[in-house]
Amino acid sequence: MNAAPAIAAPEPVLAIERSGEAAGERRRYELEDTGFNEVPKRFRRFYRRWGGPGEVLAPNEVLCPVCKVVIRSTRELRPGDHVFCLPCMSKLVVVRAADGSLAATSPH
Ligand SMILES: [Zn+2]
Repeated sequence: MNAAPAIAAPEPVLAIERSGEAAGERRRYELEDTGFNEVPKRFRRFYRRWGGPGEVLAPNEVLCPVCKVVIRSTRELRPGDHVFCLPCMSKLVVVRAADGSLAATSPH
């Protein structure tokens, strides 16, 4: 058995933005194990493989621009939220893309 990564909670959302477009009630989501086997079992429901360009992501999902894995949250994601991609260890910020969809980008 490998030791679990040193993360307090498996939830990939590190910080929720509470102002501007991100303010207000958020829908909650039940996540199921996606069979994504590149992370320890208790993290599996928070990630899944991307279906490729053209796939429409759910409001609680955002694509990691680094490793192209879909990061999933138990809450609706909004611009300004900070998320963590465990498969590639990237800290990302959720932004509103030009086409109106949500995207994740490096905060640097
Ligand atoms: Zn990643």
